[in-house]
Amino acid sequence: MKILVVNAGSSSLKYQLFDMDSGEVLAKGLCERIGIDGAITHKRPGKEDYAQTADLKDHKAAIELVLSLLTDAELGVIASADEIGAVGHRFAHGGKMKKSAILGEDEIAYLESIIEINPLHGPPAISGFKGCKAVMPNIPHVGVFDTSYYSDMEEHAYVYPIPYELYEKYQIRRYGFHGTSHRFVAAKAQELVGNKNAKIITCHLGNGSSITATVNGKAIDTSMGFTPQDGVPMGTRSGALDPTVPSYIMRKEGLSADEVEKLLNSKSGLLGVSGVSSDCRDIRAAAANGNHRAELAMKILVHNIKKIIGSYVAEMNGVDALVFTAGIGENDRALRAEVCREMSYLGIAINEELNESCPRGEDVELTAVGASVRTFVLPTNEEYMIALDTLNLSK
Ligand code: AMP
Repeated sequence: MKILVVNAGSSSLKYQLFDMDSGEVLAKGLCERIGIDGAITHKRPGKEDYAQTADLKDHKAAIELVLSLLTDAELGVIASADEIGAVGHRFAHGGKMKKSAILGEDEIAYLESIIEINPLHGPPAISGFKGCKAVMPNIPHVGVFDTSYYSDMEEHAYVYPIPYELYEKYQIRRYGFHGTSHRFVAAKAQELVGNKNAKIITCHLGNGSSITATVNGKAIDTSMGFTPQDGVPMGTRSGALDPTVPSYIMRKEGLSADEVEKLLNSKSGLLGVSGVSSDCRDIRAAAANGNHRAELAMKILVHNIKKIIGSYVAEMNGVDALVFTAGIGENDRALRAEVCREMSYLGIAINEELNESCPRGEDVELTAVGASVRTFVLPTNEEYMIALDTLNLSK
């Protein structure tokens, strides 16, 4: 079956068309500036990329353009849209959805009802779904939720120590995010370790970053919380803070709740500390040139990653595998070395030479001789995971 995976953002729509018989990606691409003017980049393996501007007034217009390119005589990879058996939609937040699900009226009504706790990602994902459903009404549309992976966490891992009535009234709890990525790499690590009951810590370190502890194939804790703002510092997000810091800033700077949220979301993290960039590559380059704040930003990141790894080892009473994934985890060799240095008490040590020379884009084991914890770099593939769930629910 051919499956189209769609990831809709506020002004963007990413797509990948999979042939699930071979597991191959037939084409993928990105629509940008939806609702502003519009542009698309369309890629096919082994062929030259194609790009054009277009009038994309909404997500429906974007998906219409995607389908016209996928079926185009010259640029296309399928003869007709009828070849697409199902569409998988990425949802960052699924609230209490415990598993991926075929999206019907009830599911969409529920997802609309939780927009208040998911104001950034909810509306575009729903609009992306509605656009696709309007254009492809007769095939299954499946929602895959980043939060589902955490739906089996125990109460004590997700209830915050605030008045319990607030949890009951407003569903304020740890939800966890990036679950589709953690699920993918944790399953791979479990396989590589050859132990179904393995205790695994997965570090998804990219523009957004989160760390998850998995035992027996189930997440038991994760660093992101009520929103993707919690946990380790990120490109522009602060990550965890003393809870009084935001209200103190509000009073001191005369900011509203929305303004302080924006400050912690888009002006903090690596960008906020370094003042250079939200991108690790720029920060590393600045640090190499003697920029103290750039060096400090990376040190804060490493410090917080180590702290969370240590806490998860304590929670699980051990760890069998440590995984690095996503943009920083897969590419920033220095960061992997810094995180794994002086962790021998926990059984973590990597072969630093191998870490320096390991190829990008491949599954690589970095474990040093004698270390009891196996450390891996495993490229994530959330889109494939979404396609797989979609296939399983559409058969
Ligand atoms: P992601 O959100 O997973 O796409 O990750 C994006 C982030 O990965 C970028 O903002 C960079 O900070 C980081 N990144 C990508 N390539 C490299 C690299 N070669 N070295 C260090 N960081 C990288």
